[in-house]
Amino acid sequence: MDLTSPRVIRSVQDKFGFTFKKGLGQNFLTSREALGKIVDSLGGERYALEIGPGFGTLTAALAERMDKVVAVETDERLIPVLEYTLAGHDNVEIIHGDVMKLDINELIREKFGARASVAANLPYYITTPVITMLLESRAPLNNITLMVQKEVARRITASPGSKDYGAITLLCDYYADTSIAAYLSASSFVPPPKVDSAVLKFAMRSAPAVRVLDEKMLFKVIRASFAQRRKTLLNCLCAAFPVSKTDMSSLLERAVSNPSRRGETLSLAEFARIADELTNLI
Ligand code: SAM
Repeated sequence: MDLTSPRVIRSVQDKFGFTFKKGLGQNFLTSREALGKIVDSLGGERYALEIGPGFGTLTAALAERMDKVVAVETDERLIPVLEYTLAGHDNVEIIHGDVMKLDINELIREKFGARASVAANLPYYITTPVITMLLESRAPLNNITLMVQKEVARRITASPGSKDYGAITLLCDYYADTSIAAYLSASSFVPPPKVDSAVLKFAMRSAPAVRVLDEKMLFKVIRASFAQRRKTLLNCLCAAFPVSKTDMSSLLERAVSNPSRRGETLSLAEFARIADELTNLI
């Protein structure tokens, strides 16, 4: 069954009386090229966890390459549809549930008993929470490949100094090496969303990109530095930490050589130096 064909999608819709729910981000993939990019970006992985299988288009493509695919779908109406569309694949397990309410670590251990990868054409409304949850879970993942809104992909892969660079870029950089594998127009989905998309790949690092004395401090510094984009680093950090302007200024001199820089020009390594200075000071 070619689930990328809009005609086949319509016939499955008719068979099950299924209507798309906008609130669940139900825009189903109709591009074979995009499917290929997602599956290729998982390389030689054997186990995949899919978030939001929909009609099972990506699930089937993954099942053809992988030893086992576990797919978590929140919409109960899709469970019988998936049983029908994926009937030919005995290496697929469907779980009815909300991915944000699952313990990803436990799920991967229980279902695969080995390191796995994540693939998803994510509903745009939960993109950032899902990425944050996956990264912070420290689950045994090698690779995460996600279809996301183009602007989100640009923010996550941005370089210091660019307007897209921000706290989410640094969070992702801390845990993974990120890259964009492909761009897709809205016409690659049924129904077409209002935004363009990109296939975003996270190659998970074996250890965080920088080593700090206190991880919570690192992310507090990063959040504070981007809280007011028009302010200098010195003013942003003085607003967030109980440190005098004079002390903060000399701390920034030591850590990044210039207190009047703006947060968006700093690399992760520079934020790490500031965080360690603050940990030692406070
Ligand atoms: N993977 C399919 C495809 O590419 O054609 C469908 C992708 S569609 C953009 C997103 C899917 O995620 C929908 O099937 C939706 O019901 C499901 N979904 C939405 N929120 C979810 C959640 N919190 N947990 C699991 N699935 C979710």
